[in-house]
Amino acid sequence: MSKDKSEYLINRKDNQYEVVIGLEVHAQVTSESKLFSTSSTKFGAEPNTQVSLVDAALPGMLPVINEYCVKQAIKTGIGLKAKINKRSVFDRKNYFYADLPQGYQISQFKDPIVGEGKVILDMPDGQKEVGIERLHLEQDAGKSIHDLDPKNTFVDLNRSGVALMEIVSKPDLRSPYEVNAYVKKLRSIMRYLGTCDGNMQEGSLRADVNVSVRKKGTKEFGTRCEIKNVNSIKFMQMAIEYEANRQVDLIEDGQSIDQETRLFDTKKNETRSMRSKEDAHDYRYFPDPDLLPLEVSDDFIEKLQLEIPELPDEKKKRFIEKFKLSPYEATILVSDNETSNYFENVIKKSDVKLATNWIIGELFAALNEKNLEIIESPISAGNLSKLINLIKDGTISGKIAKTVFEHMLEEDKDPKKIVEEKGLKQESDPKALEALIDKVIDDNREKATEYKSGKVKLFGFFVGQVMKVSGGKANPQLVNEILKKKL
Ligand code: ADP
Ligand code: MG
Repeated sequence: MSKDKSEYLINRKDNQYEVVIGLEVHAQVTSESKLFSTSSTKFGAEPNTQVSLVDAALPGMLPVINEYCVKQAIKTGIGLKAKINKRSVFDRKNYFYADLPQGYQISQFKDPIVGEGKVILDMPDGQKEVGIERLHLEQDAGKSIHDLDPKNTFVDLNRSGVALMEIVSKPDLRSPYEVNAYVKKLRSIMRYLGTCDGNMQEGSLRADVNVSVRKKGTKEFGTRCEIKNVNSIKFMQMAIEYEANRQVDLIEDGQSIDQETRLFDTKKNETRSMRSKEDAHDYRYFPDPDLLPLEVSDDFIEKLQLEIPELPDEKKKRFIEKFKLSPYEATILVSDNETSNYFENVIKKSDVKLATNWIIGELFAALNEKNLEIIESPISAGNLSKLINLIKDGTISGKIAKTVFEHMLEEDKDPKKIVEEKGLKQESDPKALEALIDKVIDDNREKATEYKSGKVKLFGFFVGQVMKVSGGKANPQLVNEILKKKL
C-alpha cells in the first residue's frame, strides 16, 4: 500500500477537516505457552488440540502466571521508552460470548504493567512522536467458526488464553499514512525485541482503530467511533478513510456522531455499526481473586534491560553517523533486523556507498519480484560484497555487474567465477581499446569529421559505438579518455 497522504479523501471541504486517530494494538506475545497455562501457542494446529483445563475454564481450575510473558511485556515497555510499573493488577473483564468459556477475560484495567511511552515515526517531512498511553497484558479468547456449517457455530479454543499485549496509543495520529508508519514501527521494535512476531496473516497483530474528525484549528476532539479488530494495515487505512468521510458527511449535514463500536466490511469497503459503545462499567471490572497483584523488583527490570538489543532508532542513528547514509537509506536498512544484518555483512568487506545502492536498488527489486524476504535472498551477503568489489576495482563495469547479478540470482555463485566463465571481464588494456576505437572512428568517418567541425554532441554516439562493439565490456572511463584524444 503506497498510497500517499494527499491521495486520501479525508480533508475535503476545502481542507477544513482533520482526522484524529488512536490505536489499540493487540500484539500476541512470542511465547511457547499461554499466559496462565502450559498449553502450546503454536499456530495452525488442529482445532481444540491445544487447550488445557484452564483454557477451557473447567470449574476449579486456577490460572498461574507465565513469567516469560511478563518479561516479554516489560521488554516491550522498555522498547517503547515507557515507564514500567513495579506493581500491576489483573482484573476480570466480564462479558458473555461462546468463545469465552470463563465468562470473563483476564486483563489489566486500572494498573497496567507498562505506563506512558512513545514511538518515533520517520515521516518524509521529518520525525513525529506518537504517545503511548499504556501497555497491558491480557488473554486472548477462542475463535467462533461460522462458515463450516449452515446451522451451527463451532468454537476453537486453541487461542483461548494466549498472551496478548494491548498497546494503547494517544490520539496522536493524523492520517492513514501515519497509521501505516506507526504500525510498521511498532512491529519493527517488537521484532527486534523478539516479543511479537507481528505476523498479521496469522492474527499476531490486530488493532481497534479509533477515529474522529474535527474542524482544523479546533482544540477539542470530536466524538470517536471504534472500529474493531482490523487485521491488516491496508484495511486500517481503508477503514479510516471511509469512517472519516462518513463522519464529515454527518457533520456537514448538521447531524452529530454517535459514539459507537463499528466493524469494517472488507468486501464492501465500508464500516458498519455493531453496537453503541460500551463503557468500562459495563464490563464490571474487578481484580481477579485468583491472581495476586504482580510485583516486579528493580533488579528484575534491570536484568531485562541488559537483554535489550540495539533498536531501530539507535541503529539508524549509528548508520547515519558511522556509514554516512542518508536518513532515507538508513530508515530502509534498519526496518528489520534481517535487513540490517545483511547490510552490515555486505559492508564488512566492501564499499558502503555501492553496497547501499545495490541492496536498496537491485536486490530489493529482485526480492520484491520474487516475493522473497531478505533472509531468503538467493544472493548471499558474502557474494554480493564480492560483486561490489569487482565493480570497485574496475574488473567489471556497473552495467556488466547487472548481468552478473542476474546470473547470481539464478545461482548463488562467486561472481568472479561467473565473470570468468562468461568472459565478462572489463577491457581496461589501453592498447586493445585504442584498436577498437580506431576501428569505430574509421567506420564512421563522416561523423568524425562533423564532430571535429564542432558538432560535439556526437561524442556520446562514439562512446555508445565503442561500448557496443566491445559487448559492453570496455572500461567507460578509459574509452572517454582515449576517444577525446583520438577525435
Ligand atoms: P476504550 O477501552 O474505551 O476503547 P481505551 O482507553 O482503551 O478506551 O482506548 C481509547 C483509544 O481511543 C486510545 O487509543 C485513544 O488514543 C483513542 N481516542 C480517544 N479519544 C479519541 C478521539 N476523540 N478520536 C480518536 N481517537 C481517540
Ligand atoms: Mg477499546
